[in-house]
Amino acid sequence: MSIKADLHTHTNRSDGIYSPDELIRKAHSKGIVILGITDHDNLGAFPRAIEFGASLGVEVIPGVELSANVAEKEIHILGYFVDFTNGRLLEYLKLLRDERAKRAVRIVEKLNQLNIPLKFESVQRRAGSGAIGRPHIAMVLVDEGFVSDYQTAFNRYIGFGCPAYEKKFNLAPAEACSLIASAGGLSFLAHPGRSVDDKLLKTLIKSGLDGIEVVHPSHNENLVSHYRGIAARNFLLESGGSDFHGGKDNDDDVLGSYYIDISRVDEMKRKRNSHAANF
Ligand code: AMP
Ligand code: ZN
Ligand code: FE
Ligand code: FE
Repeated sequence: MSIKADLHTHTNRSDGIYSPDELIRKAHSKGIVILGITDHDNLGAFPRAIEFGASLGVEVIPGVELSANVAEKEIHILGYFVDFTNGRLLEYLKLLRDERAKRAVRIVEKLNQLNIPLKFESVQRRAGSGAIGRPHIAMVLVDEGFVSDYQTAFNRYIGFGCPAYEKKFNLAPAEACSLIASAGGLSFLAHPGRSVDDKLLKTLIKSGLDGIEVVHPSHNENLVSHYRGIAARNFLLESGGSDFHGGKDNDDDVLGSYYIDISRVDEMKRKRNSHAANF
């Protein structure tokens, strides 16, 4: 049996519901020995998560998930092994979180115009110290009884093209990759199966990606083989994980069900170390 590495998870430092400690405990109980914590626009889980993981025998890899715009589309880029004390990266993340908060205000205003008297403060409270996002808005819409469930919040109000949808400020893919590289990290295209066709993937590979997320809940077996082939033909690394957020629509069984072999992580470390040697 392979030893599990899950390189895509979220905590309450972004839109996950568990604290880093809770997530690490759960991952440990599911047999995950290497855990990538990849909160949106936030490195607030580190270094504490690394130390807590080590106390349980879980190697925590510091990561971050950035959004990037290409044409009208939004794609996600995962950065691994980033230096979470890098001033430039932290400054950018702060800017991205500030932009998220401003966009949440605009979404709330649109909802208010639609006769939904949601308060920004409730959304902010829900997000706590985490990077604020649409999932927080969806959760508050459910809690306050404006919609019956989380998915309906997206389908009816805040999903792409819906009446309260608002665009978020994002970097360009090449900017996201270079930001990650300048903090010593490796860039991986997240869940291409969700929104990236092969033509776009070809373009994105030229933006400075080190690898592709091959294993993800949105990828069936065929897609996993498909992206594995593309990674191999383009000399790219492979990553994968559960994209676990926790909560009603994303139960704990997701954790431990989507993983890669730790040998993939060794390959990443080799590439990261060869980069570092070139500086
Ligand atoms: P944000 O980064 O604030 O734009 O929020 C993006 C997150 O919202 C995604 O990572 C998904 O978890 C969730 N999301 C976006 N669109 C939908 C949708 N149509 N249905 C359900 N969840 C969605
Ligand atoms: Zn998320
Ligand atoms: Fe994502
Ligand atoms: Fe994610």
